[in-house]
Amino acid sequence: MPRRPSEDEYFAREDELKKAKLAREQKKRSDLAAKESLREQHAGHCPQCGQKLSTAHMLGGRVLRCLDCRGAWLEAPSIDSLVEKARSAQGEGIVDTLLDLLRPTK
Ligand SMILES: [Zn+2]
Repeated sequence: MPRRPSEDEYFAREDELKKAKLAREQKKRSDLAAKESLREQHAGHCPQCGQKLSTAHMLGGRVLRCLDCRGAWLEAPSIDSLVEKARSAQGEGIVDTLLDLLRPTK
């Protein structure tokens, strides 16, 4: 027959569980704060060179462009929109439009 834990063992185990729960909650808050800090530092900036991005609306979506390194980024909904248009009969000209995005503007 298994031995029943003593009252001290029971409360020690309860304390361990509470401490582990608090540690998990603190780590979760810390991870969220770090994520928010990174977002605040980098949102709207080029992932390649760190310069401010400009926004253009093309092909039914938002295109983020870096005028410094000439990078262009599409957000997931914009990519979905492009894929949808490319699959449709109205997809003609998308390649030219994409190439226009990549051409230097300076
Ligand atoms: Zn850039």
